[in-house]
Amino acid sequence: MSVVSADIQIARETPRRAGHPTLDAALHWYKQGIVPVPCSLTTKRPIIEWKEWQYELPDMHRVMRWFITNQVNIGLLCGGIGKLCVLDFDSRIQYINWRDDTMLLSSALWGQIAENGYKVITGRGVHVYIKTKFAQPSYRCDKYKADVKGEGGIAIAPPSVHPSGAMYTPLNDGDIYVVACQQELLDAVPPVSSMSHRGRHAGIWDDIESMAACYNGPYVDVRSALPIVDFVQDIGGERPIKYGRDKRFGLTRCIYPGHKDSHASMRIDTVRNTLNCSSTSCPLHSDSYWLNVVDVYKLICDMDEYDAYMELRQYVLFNKSKGRLG
Ligand SMILES: [Zn+2]
Repeated sequence: MSVVSADIQIARETPRRAGHPTLDAALHWYKQGIVPVPCSLTTKRPIIEWKEWQYELPDMHRVMRWFITNQVNIGLLCGGIGKLCVLDFDSRIQYINWRDDTMLLSSALWGQIAENGYKVITGRGVHVYIKTKFAQPSYRCDKYKADVKGEGGIAIAPPSVHPSGAMYTPLNDGDIYVVACQQELLDAVPPVSSMSHRGRHAGIWDDIESMAACYNGPYVDVRSALPIVDFVQDIGGERPIKYGRDKRFGLTRCIYPGHKDSHASMRIDTVRNTLNCSSTSCPLHSDSYWLNVVDVYKLICDMDEYDAYMELRQYVLFNKSKGRLG
């Protein structure tokens, strides 16, 4: 056997990419406070004891030792210190359904996540990366056939190779957006809700119950439960003028405190329950998305998303108890 053919033999057995892409990727995540762990090429499972690294960042040399070989996949620990959360859609169709729904109906933040958030093509589906400000248990979303990987979850990341041979490939070089309010995550990717799933997803059900225990009170989708036209009237004091087919839209003076609006610059969409101020210098103006009631309240009161959500939720619960809201 000649030396040349022996070299080819080795090259075939160990397909190498230029440099150390897996190590580079591992360090990229590590520097963002997200722990990368080496996983098997064939089973996707971690090949180290990883639980101790959920709440403690390993030192960099250890990470380099884990990934100095290219013969491992890279798994990112979700939840824990990095608070990474990955929406793992089983199929591209389900991902597209979710994206279209989210861009149409959800908050400005989720519209951004759906459009510009960092995403990865997997074997058959898509991963959408976010970070949370709260500890998020993992759960199953039946509506979009997705696993939401939070505490204790591991997301296989590029440039890993799926056991089928497919590469995990970034769909874009988008940002990882931070979600401050847990309820917003649950609205965007609703958890399984039927008891009939107890058998099929026994382990996940426990997580749902522990997640439910994190809330203080019943589930309320503030964005749809509170008609934005009533909210604007409450704050602005005047009834918006209806226009458009089926009187879908409303027009009124802007309710942002700093906007001295002599014209009626604020447009309301009563179907999507969103609004937009046409004055480009106004904080309630957006070129890309109309704002929902949580977005608006957050900006008007200069509070964070979570507080705005919780305050509006109280407002909705109070008004419902008085029979004021449908
Ligand atoms: Zn305005």
